[in-house]
Amino acid sequence: MHTRTLISNATIVNEGRSFIGSVLIEDDHIETIAEGYNKISGFAADTVINASGCILLPGVIDEHVHLRDPGLTHKADITTESRAAAAGGITTFLDMPNTLPQTTSLKAFQEKLALMEQKSHVNYGCFFGATQDNLEEMLRLDRRKVCGIKLFMGASTGNMLVDNDLALDAIFEQTSMPQTGDKQKKVHGLPVMVHCEDSEIIARNMTACKEKYGCDPDIRFHSEIRSEEACLSSTRRAIALAKKHHTRLHVAHVSTASELKLFSKDTPYITAEACVPHLLFTNEDYHQLGARIKCNPSIKTIADRTALRKALTDGTISIIGTDHAPHTLQEKSGGAAKAVSGMPMLQFSLVSMLELVDERILSLERVVELMCHAPARLFNIENRGYLREGFKADLVLVRPQSPWTLTPNRIESRCNWSPLEGHTFRWRIEKTFCNGFLIYNKGALTDENFRGLAVTYDR
Ligand SMILES: [Zn+2]
Repeated sequence: MHTRTLISNATIVNEGRSFIGSVLIEDDHIETIAEGYNKISGFAADTVINASGCILLPGVIDEHVHLRDPGLTHKADITTESRAAAAGGITTFLDMPNTLPQTTSLKAFQEKLALMEQKSHVNYGCFFGATQDNLEEMLRLDRRKVCGIKLFMGASTGNMLVDNDLALDAIFEQTSMPQTGDKQKKVHGLPVMVHCEDSEIIARNMTACKEKYGCDPDIRFHSEIRSEEACLSSTRRAIALAKKHHTRLHVAHVSTASELKLFSKDTPYITAEACVPHLLFTNEDYHQLGARIKCNPSIKTIADRTALRKALTDGTISIIGTDHAPHTLQEKSGGAAKAVSGMPMLQFSLVSMLELVDERILSLERVVELMCHAPARLFNIENRGYLREGFKADLVLVRPQSPWTLTPNRIESRCNWSPLEGHTFRWRIEKTFCNGFLIYNKGALTDENFRGLAVTYDR
């Protein structure tokens, strides 16, 4: 039995254009896209959704989340966080490897994908974590099943820190883009996504700060401890390695104006991600939000935020991710040393970025490029991320000028808090379709039993 859903008279934003039109979904894919008003004749549909006044976008692909599952499920799990994703217009997420166990062996990788298949309300993919000594495991990966390698280069996340030149060289060399005539390794050309912060600089800053202010310095010192210098030094090193080996490098959560200068159009295989917290907050927000906005790399100055926002449009930043990293509020108590780093973000990332459109910082077309098209293209995700006939019907319908205030009862994430609580948003997520299925409708998940699919990669 076929199901046909017609979304009519929406403003469709896709591939650099906005136009009034209708989309016919058949089963799991986009059957037809018709441009123009009331172009619905001849479309027999079981369900017709009048979307006039709404904007229709491809479902968001969040390429940077920490869903905490397996092992850290007191903070979050795949069920709760994928609900939050659906409610936020996110139809695909790519999960990071610092779970328990860490996703640093083939076995852990396969087990996590199996867990996602069981639990996720939206589509999913999974990074493999590089360590100092798991190269053999990495070489056994199938590049069509893994979105990329995550490397914590000089960052303290569990014991996944890789900081030794030999190990780094080997990882970048093995994943290098194949030259013609090369015998292809299975991991050749895999994106290597790197968390860049220099741990030696951070340790030195932390010691100095503790000497001055005691064992748990005030939260506002976090941005001085995890400093601009720490980011710049590590990002410079990662870029040098990528150039040396010709590796597809994606620098995660760029947080400073000075790092932006390291990216160039001459090296399109080296790309930069900006994360929502760094686009929304500045170090002045510690006064009000305290450790809630503690994250790594740290939130920097207003000048840094301004530069990051500008880089969204000039092309220096290729992708917006969330770095969704939920913790309990209890874990977030304390200062620069004691409070844990990371904040929940995926449910409210799209509505937050749409506010940057209202503030004329970004165009709607650019939001779609940064949050939908680019993640699909840069991670080679097949048949998703664009509104195209024949592609999977991952869609989100949003309504402008429909204010609502973020209160805890709206939060789907298990941790049940957000640094954006109390904020009144102007945009509303109306409906989210995942593989043609209306998974989220006006404030509620429609079917607890619906599950997303593992995305596949065309490489
Ligand atoms: Zn992260």
